[in-house]
Amino acid sequence: MTYTNFTIETDTDGVAVVTWDMKDKSMNVFTMQVMDEIDAIIDQVVADGAIKGAVFASGKSAFSGGADLTMLKGMFSMIESERATDPVNATKKLFDAAGRMSWLWRKLETCGKPWVAAINGTCMGGATELAMACHARVASNSKSVKIALPEVKVGIFPGAGGTQRLPRLINTQDALQIMTTGQDLTASRAKALGLVNEIVEPDQLIEAAKTMIRNGLDPVAPWDKKGFKAPGGTIWSPQGVQLFSAANAILRRETYMNYPGAHSILKCVYEGLQLPFDTALRVEQRYFTAILQTTEAYSMIRSLFVSMQELGKGARRPAGIPVTKFTKIGIVGAGFMGAAVAYVTARAGIPVVLLDRDQEAADKGKTHSETLVKDAITKGRSTREEGDKLLSLITPSADYSLIVDADLVIEAVFEDRGVKKAVIEQVEAVLPATSIFASNTSTLPITGLAENSKRPDQFIGVHFFSPVEKMMLVEVILGEKTGDKAIAVALDYAAAIKKTPIVVNDTRGFYVNRCVLRYMSEAYKMLIEGVPAPMIENAAKAAGMPVGPLALTDETAIDLAQKIMKQTIRDLGDKAVDPKQMALINTMVDDHGRLGRKNGKGFYDYPAKPAKKKLWPGLKDLYPQLAPEKVDYEELQQRLLVTIALEAARVMEEGIVTDPREADVGSILAFGFAPYTGGALSYIDGIGAKEFVKIAKGLQKKYGAEFKAPKLLLDMAEKGETFYERFDPYAKGDVKQAA
Ligand code: NAD
Repeated sequence: MTYTNFTIETDTDGVAVVTWDMKDKSMNVFTMQVMDEIDAIIDQVVADGAIKGAVFASGKSAFSGGADLTMLKGMFSMIESERATDPVNATKKLFDAAGRMSWLWRKLETCGKPWVAAINGTCMGGATELAMACHARVASNSKSVKIALPEVKVGIFPGAGGTQRLPRLINTQDALQIMTTGQDLTASRAKALGLVNEIVEPDQLIEAAKTMIRNGLDPVAPWDKKGFKAPGGTIWSPQGVQLFSAANAILRRETYMNYPGAHSILKCVYEGLQLPFDTALRVEQRYFTAILQTTEAYSMIRSLFVSMQELGKGARRPAGIPVTKFTKIGIVGAGFMGAAVAYVTARAGIPVVLLDRDQEAADKGKTHSETLVKDAITKGRSTREEGDKLLSLITPSADYSLIVDADLVIEAVFEDRGVKKAVIEQVEAVLPATSIFASNTSTLPITGLAENSKRPDQFIGVHFFSPVEKMMLVEVILGEKTGDKAIAVALDYAAAIKKTPIVVNDTRGFYVNRCVLRYMSEAYKMLIEGVPAPMIENAAKAAGMPVGPLALTDETAIDLAQKIMKQTIRDLGDKAVDPKQMALINTMVDDHGRLGRKNGKGFYDYPAKPAKKKLWPGLKDLYPQLAPEKVDYEELQQRLLVTIALEAARVMEEGIVTDPREADVGSILAFGFAPYTGGALSYIDGIGAKEFVKIAKGLQKKYGAEFKAPKLLLDMAEKGETFYERFDPYAKGDVKQAA
């Protein structure tokens, strides 16, 4: 038989090697067709008397990325229309679809012939579940082997037997931790845990797997044998009792129970370990069906998988412009940001010229990369060779003639119009007319900066976030005259350095900072109202934000907040900033010298490590304090999310962001907007525009005009529209259309 995605070769010993290699994809992923083919392959292996057992291998450098989650997105739409007319049947259909993979792996496991998974590289989600259904697993001794069950990160859980096989293969505590965090396991960690049976050199992988079969590998899973005991003991053992009460508490501490997918993992393991295997799989299937119907799963899959992938692949890239293969990138300004941008660029294998006012300043910028490289080598994340290669790509200099052949120049000099103007002119004097100039400004409008350029159509904003090495987002800002080539090059650059770009039209604060400032400002208001600071920070965490608004202000610096407020007053007048908030920030900076983390004194105190930061006790004395029981804690949570979501809606109304995928993904990647919501706009869509407007109106009455819903939302509420319907990202052509 021939297959589209697989080849089968059987050797003289009767060992078949099933090689998975999807022609049209760079990574093997499970699609309906792949599952149909695996189904047929299992039948073929069983039927062919000459085959003793089979090795499941990959023809690519990775084993598999797991399920193609767009398949799940398809499943949602499949039942959506039916749900209104025949909800019972719709749920039944979803139940069957949700169990498809699970029962397929069970078929493989119980087919009567032994299977070995040969894991040569990345092995994610459904692929790890397949590997666990095989009767043994052998992995390559290679850094590229990463084994994980990362489903929880997109709001679901390992629903193809993962929650049942993992705690039957390894200790329950480790199994819970692996599944609730979605962490990657190296080959050696997987071996130490008992998830992988053997590790061999990459060129021995297939042979080692074959040998297991030749040596008479048992085709019956341990849990299908009488008297099977899970390695972590039973649920009712003293260990089990202790584990599950602690596990519940830890999950609550880590997730505030905002993630139903994570919670389901605990339920599946707890219930499943008390049941025979097939029944346990059915229990898992039921929970999986329920999870697939949650708003959280729907929104997280859409934003954190589908949209992120689409944006990463340049969904907003103008068509018809050849992809830029970067041969050299110039970075001007080797300070805090420029140095970090140089590092991520060189890490992507692109030669960088790092310019500053003099050689000394440029050299200092390169030391940032040297420190990071040293650290990576010490931690075993990089080899000396790789480190040397990376550093050799960065040329620090004060000589502009070195950028005459750069494809792109990014400036990260002082946030000063005059300094930037001089740099633009200096760069353009040597830069080829075909190259692109990008500014990393965080506050200055791109259109204004581009007035200093001879080629405003080739001028664009590429706004990074700190720490650049970790933050996955770049905000690409379009000036009024920015042309398609500049957009294309900026997006190609983001792709090259493996960051997710969002394309934003020019405005004060662009997209991200506008939202972030709302978040902080709401917290200042709460402080002024007398809400105890710990309640503000905890409410933010409970709402799903990774960093409280006061901690975030400390990170970015309180004197920076002061500068921004003063500049806003200068530009837009006194009314543009709440005088009480201005007074709070002035008090912090001018009276108490509290600048944030940078001077160890902000809303928090920062004692020497290992002591942890603590909220500054003096905050209590700034305003008369409300008794905690007088504070509506849930309303605090709501205020923090709603104020950001409203700003995101305004940004859409103004045409600053035109694609809801970008507003959502941007809000999660830039400031961690409660990821379980799918992002700031999905949060509104999930609640429903009508209900959201009602909530906003209630808050407006109590807390002021910040909560005024924009006309756009009122209109959407009236029409019952969502953002993804109103601004359908799949029906759009030109990026700048809505600008
Ligand atoms: P910084 O002060 O750390 O670095 C600026 C560097 O520019 C210095 O090394 C300085 O010597 C150099 N420089 C100044 N004038 C120059 C000139 N004429 N020619 C060459 N080099 C010159 O500042 P930073 O925090 O890295 O910020 C740089 C830019 O990045 C600013 O526009 C800022 O708004 C933006 N930005 C900063 C952050 C942040 O978190 N700090 C985040 C996003 C964007």
